[in-house]
Amino acid sequence: MTFSIHGLPVARGIAIGRAVLVASSRLDVVHYFIEPAQVEAELKRVRDGRDAVVTEIQRLQSTIAQMGPKETPHELAALLEVHLMLLQDEELALGVRHWIKDRLYNAEWALVSQLEVIARQFDEMQDDYLRERKADLEQITERILRAMRGVSSPLVQPLGRVMRKATQQELLLDDTVDVPLILVAHDLSPADMLQFKQSVFAGFITDVGGKTSHTAIVARSLDIPAVVGARLASQLLRQDDWVIIDGDAGVVVVDPSAIILAEYGFRQRQGELARGRLARLLHTPAVTLDGQKIELLANIEMPDDAAGAIAAGAVGVGLFRSEFLFMGRHGKLPNEEEQYLAYRRAVEGMQGLPVTIRTVDIGADKPLDESARDMAHLNPALGLRAIRWSLTEPAMFLTQLRAILRAAAHGPVQLLIPMLVHASEIRQTVSLIDHARVQLDNRGIAYGPVKIGAMIEIPAAALTLKLFLKYFDFLSIGTNDLIQYTLAIDRADESVAHLYDPLHPAVLRLIANTLAEAHAQGKPVSVCGEMAGDVGMTRLLLGMGLRSFSMHPAQILAVKQEILRADTGKLEDWAQQVMSDEEPAKRIARPA
Ligand code: PEP
Ligand code: MG
Repeated sequence: MTFSIHGLPVARGIAIGRAVLVASSRLDVVHYFIEPAQVEAELKRVRDGRDAVVTEIQRLQSTIAQMGPKETPHELAALLEVHLMLLQDEELALGVRHWIKDRLYNAEWALVSQLEVIARQFDEMQDDYLRERKADLEQITERILRAMRGVSSPLVQPLGRVMRKATQQELLLDDTVDVPLILVAHDLSPADMLQFKQSVFAGFITDVGGKTSHTAIVARSLDIPAVVGARLASQLLRQDDWVIIDGDAGVVVVDPSAIILAEYGFRQRQGELARGRLARLLHTPAVTLDGQKIELLANIEMPDDAAGAIAAGAVGVGLFRSEFLFMGRHGKLPNEEEQYLAYRRAVEGMQGLPVTIRTVDIGADKPLDESARDMAHLNPALGLRAIRWSLTEPAMFLTQLRAILRAAAHGPVQLLIPMLVHASEIRQTVSLIDHARVQLDNRGIAYGPVKIGAMIEIPAAALTLKLFLKYFDFLSIGTNDLIQYTLAIDRADESVAHLYDPLHPAVLRLIANTLAEAHAQGKPVSVCGEMAGDVGMTRLLLGMGLRSFSMHPAQILAVKQEILRADTGKLEDWAQQVMSDEEPAKRIARPA
């Protein structure tokens, strides 16, 4: 039966494919794709795990038989019998085989996926006795998994490049194409999401998350349709369901009828054509109708993203979120050499164009690793995050600063500091940067010049710009956090997502003031939050005076198209009207 789920649109476009649910079971296992050559080995791992449990149960049965009926309740013997039966159940074995052989799931993932399939069948049964067998099934699955842990198994690996062929009946789609896979999860950390850069998922759906949560930001950088905050999606969807993601509307359609599939298939093709048309703008300079040159920069998460930035026509990197080099490493931080090589790779990848490296912004929804999530109840967005953390770990911070300074010997680099608010933090930061230079001098290691900039992402910073303009060469407005902290809305919380409003007059005023004051002092200022890549905001930001936008490479051409059609002279008055409106969102819908 077709039904739809509404969430928050995160990354545009339409994706149609089969659902791949991860970690939806209470049994938390690793999920990764195997190579076809590993199929037999994975099947054997499950078989060995199952055989070990069978042997264990049989041993228990013979112990019970020796003990006699008085010492052991009859129910125990019956239970063991049921467990043995379930272990030998064909549906379990055949299903697991299907997930491993046809889908190339690792053994644990296959086992848990099949458990879900059978558990649902049990749920639908009328007979109470049979329905209760679900708990037994979960128990034996747990036992097999435990037994398999004794059998050597790889640690978490990135989901690899694997797809399978669709069959004619499955589809309604062209049988010459591979079946796209859509990842469905309750939650994904930004680090998990980054892993999927290497994978073939055609789309993502998560139950939780806001539009500018870091998970959503990484999803957007992958440039594939995604919906977050889809509440119960991971419970309502079943493994292998056909799903459509409408990334523009934030809608997920499950088990679509042929008519719906045809409609979305059409829209998908239209989208592809539109992208093709945009690609023609690649070499067109970003200049408005009245001749204003606009700088279009890229936001990147990893050094290799530089290639995508160049391919999209970015004239530099406006934000390299260096924290992604630090995450998911179980607390083992990258050393100076590792960081230096990573930054250098980004710098060289940009082929002489400037790279703005932001120092580590760990904390809030970007924990170093999962164990740090225990602190969530302390309101981490207001806690030890970004520069605050760096200043409490001076050795770590100096290591990063030295690595960045060294990378600057290979091309133009700007150093960007996140979340500053106090004069004392600014002074400490500046003195640590000087200290890092002295350390490199003392060691005789070469480094390059860097311009130093501050993120303006806390309202208090936007209201004390004089201080920032005194110490820094440039500013970068982080609208994601500026909105979060101005409106007191957790950017990662879907339950208040409707109140997360980039067009709130207070937010607009803070942005406009920052632009005006920086320009008055002749200091460069850009916007690197998600607003910069939102085509619905381009004209307003131009009218407010913004001339430098930093965004995911995938958004650059669409924003450029808006710029080419804009006349900043006309937009200025209109932007003033929008800003002074009680509800700017309504006015912005009316063109200038
Ligand atoms: C921002 O806050 O707008 C920003 C660009 O930084 P991040 O999204 O990484 O917090
Ligand atoms: Mg920020």
